[in-house]
Amino acid sequence: MTKKIAVYPGSFDPITFGHLDIINRGLIIFDEIIIAVAANSSKNAMFSIEERVDLIRTVLGGNERAKVDTFDGLLVDYVLSKEATVIIRGLRAVSDFEYEFQIAQMNRNISQQVETFFMMTSVPYSYLSSSIVKEVSSLNGPIDGLVPPLVKKALEAKHKQIKK
Ligand code: ADP
Repeated sequence: MTKKIAVYPGSFDPITFGHLDIINRGLIIFDEIIIAVAANSSKNAMFSIEERVDLIRTVLGGNERAKVDTFDGLLVDYVLSKEATVIIRGLRAVSDFEYEFQIAQMNRNISQQVETFFMMTSVPYSYLSSSIVKEVSSLNGPIDGLVPPLVKKALEAKHKQIKK
């Protein structure tokens, strides 16, 4: 039987428990998930691509079915190059829907071999985003329960560095 490989693309700046929840639930459905950190994201990243990859790798702790990689260029090309057939995206509020719908249609237009698979957020993470975590932590607000302890430490270190 061929392995069902899915790509979970994103900025992961940094990885949160919301992302991890999607990965863990996705692993129940797919044989392998490639967490693909976007190198050409238009967003202004706080963590370098290497830092983001390192954080994800450490947090996943060597799960052989969850791989971490980076990509640039067309996502669909990347997915096909990995012999994957599915793109996983998470949906939180309705506000995610419109954008995700557009991207999914565009990707389908580029290749009919790749399917986008949407997963609903788990309720405790429905308002959780990397941006909100960065904002709260920059103001010394509590972020326990939103990101793994290692990510919390990395955020604190970044904020110290920025304030210098
Ligand atoms: P992007 O810049 O591609 O949106 P993100 O790292 O912000 O990258 O998100 C990657 C994916 O993870 C997106 O599909 C996003 O909807 C999903 N995601 C992020 N946070 C959560 C969460 N709390 N619950 C469910 N899905 C999430």
